[in-house]
Amino acid sequence: MSKTVLITGASRGIGAAVARRFAAAGWQVALHYHRSEAQALALARELNALPLRADVSDSAQVAAMAAEAVQRLGHLDALVCNAGIALPLGLVQDCSDSDWHRVFAVNVDGVFHTVRAVLPSMLARHSGSIVTLSSMWGQVGGSCEVPYSAAKGAVIAFTKALAQEVAPSGINVNCVAPGIIQTDMMAFADEDTLAALRADTPLGRLGTPEDVAGVVFGLCQPESSFVTGQVIGVNGGFVIT
Ligand code: NAP
Repeated sequence: MSKTVLITGASRGIGAAVARRFAAAGWQVALHYHRSEAQALALARELNALPLRADVSDSAQVAAMAAEAVQRLGHLDALVCNAGIALPLGLVQDCSDSDWHRVFAVNVDGVFHTVRAVLPSMLARHSGSIVTLSSMWGQVGGSCEVPYSAAKGAVIAFTKALAQEVAPSGINVNCVAPGIIQTDMMAFADEDTLAALRADTPLGRLGTPEDVAGVVFGLCQPESSFVTGQVIGVNGGFVIT
């Protein structure tokens, strides 16, 4: 029986690389997306994956999406909560209520909705791996990214608490905290900004989605079954906690 994984936000960027990594190892992939339908459907065709649409900030849509994933794949060995958004850089006193609530609705509520929807099927089988995506700014805070840092810090606390709660049920839960990874999320940065970020990175380069995907995949392998409640930085040494 193939192993199975549900990956949120897998239409592009890090999530798409994670989907490719699992599929390359023979896993059956439930490939979640929201707005990028054409990209998601093309990737699903390429990987023979199951495309599923939902806005992760909407609990009813997520419940239906997770139920379909479990029903169509039979069970879920792993869940990767990757869907997320960032806000344009800005001072906290200029952040609107709606931007603040939106960054929490997608990054924090989205993780909660997805985990809550998937967990019963993992608890029933007494096994599973969950990986959440935070950010190095969730670990140490980033100037001009206060709402995003706060939301990603909440993801870390969520992960640690959940890891303790479900460990007796044979489920491990870990968090991956990327640094600067070249995806659409970094499209705001011009060449000078990217060069400065590269120079500030001890390993001397920016990250790729594949750098993150390899770590996420590794955390869902049997070799990692004794690892839980951990935050793994994938940041080239930019932040060492
Ligand atoms: P990205 O390229 O902007 O892709 C974001 C993904 O999230 C897309 O698949 C998007 O789906 C999905 N998404 C956004 N809003 C959604 C919603 N309301 N409901 C469902 N899905 C939604 O981002 P990325 O760079 O790959 O980032 C992936 C994760 O890593 C995020 O959690 C991000 O915070 C984190 N991260 C990224 C970096 C970085 O430098 N890139 C650094 C640290 C952490 P659609 O396109 O289909 O709408």
